[in-house]
Amino acid sequence: MKLKMTDSTEQKNGSLPYEMIIGLEVHVQLKTETKLFCRCSTKFGAEPNTQTCPVCIGMPGALPVMNRRAYDLAIKTALALDIGIPHFTKWDRKNYYYPDLPRGYQISQFDLPLSEGGKLEISDPKGGFKTKNVGITRAHLEDDAGKSLHDEASGKADTRIDLNRTGTPLLEIVSEPDMSSPQEAKGYLTELKLLLTYLEVSDCNMQEGSLRVDANVNLKIQNGNETVYTPIVEVKNMNSFRAVERAVAYEAKRQYTVWQETGLVKGQLPKQTRGWDDSAQITRAQREKEDASDYRYFPEPDLCPAVITEEEIASYRATLPELPGAIRKRLQGDFDLNPYDADVIVNQGQGGVDYYEELAKECGDGKQASNWFQQDVLRKLNESETTFAEFSLQPSRLAGLLLAVQKKEVDTTRAKDVFGVMYEKNLTAQEGMKELGIEQVDTSALSDLCKMLLEKNPQVVEDVKSGKKQAVGALIGQAKKANPNVNPGEVRKVCLDLIEQG
Ligand SMILES: [Zn+2]
Repeated sequence: MKLKMTDSTEQKNGSLPYEMIIGLEVHVQLKTETKLFCRCSTKFGAEPNTQTCPVCIGMPGALPVMNRRAYDLAIKTALALDIGIPHFTKWDRKNYYYPDLPRGYQISQFDLPLSEGGKLEISDPKGGFKTKNVGITRAHLEDDAGKSLHDEASGKADTRIDLNRTGTPLLEIVSEPDMSSPQEAKGYLTELKLLLTYLEVSDCNMQEGSLRVDANVNLKIQNGNETVYTPIVEVKNMNSFRAVERAVAYEAKRQYTVWQETGLVKGQLPKQTRGWDDSAQITRAQREKEDASDYRYFPEPDLCPAVITEEEIASYRATLPELPGAIRKRLQGDFDLNPYDADVIVNQGQGGVDYYEELAKECGDGKQASNWFQQDVLRKLNESETTFAEFSLQPSRLAGLLLAVQKKEVDTTRAKDVFGVMYEKNLTAQEGMKELGIEQVDTSALSDLCKMLLEKNPQVVEDVKSGKKQAVGALIGQAKKANPNVNPGEVRKVCLDLIEQG
């Protein structure tokens, strides 16, 4: 018997009547000049079918040769994901017929992938989900198929085939079904993409298909005393992380409704593939998912297995850069940053981290450097569409301005103007301040100015005397108008002192 649940039960305690189980399969196009088993270029955007040869289009007798660089990048990625590297790995043919796969099979890895069993830590400094390790089931290399171009827009029934992509190296990274919300799924993808960017193994461009995601989704439902699982659905066609988040959320609701209507659970239905329709914001049934046996895997007779020694693995490990998770923790420790600030900085990539660290060291205040980095540097960088390497206002020069703020030579508001002029005219902080006529106001001039203001504003004096200290704020604007170089904090202090003295 199945339990009927209504919307009102779902709302109870704000929790869902089910748990989501999400595993992700990510195909990453590795950054190589040439394809996985031939010397054709992998460059994106060339005229269709100009980057092919007898090997990648599968002419009889053409022999594949493994691309060493693709193997290097794959091993590097696996090590960064804490995946074990077996000493022996081999290639298999995955047989299926598709118009954009003229060979009739993909060269992939079946039972002996190049790596098995790793993890990736995900966290959300905004608190959307708790920090957790997502298990990595395996990572293996395979070559890509071509592209079918369906000319639906023109209303014609044409389908054209472009084989330029055929044979491009892909690393398939399969996660354990360890994610239990759309936010975690997005968090995993964001972290994985960041890791791949730090490793420089892929450009991760989703629009160009360098990073593709399939999601396996089902639900765990507590039905009275019984725990049931809905059939697993593989969701495809998601072309952004946002789309993955939405598709997974939609799919959970759909599966719950179907279960309520039919009571069908895992094992009673074959695994299904559904495509995400971004314009309709729904998933649509595509086909029943093949089993491994449907692909009639068998060892690729034309390629040698790849063998790697412990020493070679160690030398790969030595080439790994510091990884995002470790940098986040180090920035929090070294510069006293909170997790959110450290996360923003690390998300800018290695160039951003280097910039921030130099700025923080030179000005000696990690928090101040973080504020300027996040508010001013990032804004200017976006406006000017430049990278950190190209950004002309380098950290050593900006540190001069931050030090001037610390020494109260300039207040923060005016320092923003100095930042602008330093950037526009390529000036140092001191030159920038001079350019804007900023100079320190000496004590007697400041005192005279404050006396004058208090005389002109007797109401303020009375308000302060009756306990409303904040009334003095009304004088700041007038003070700045009279002398733009005055420091608001000092105006406040001097005025209050003068009133107190009488
Ligand atoms: Zn080729």
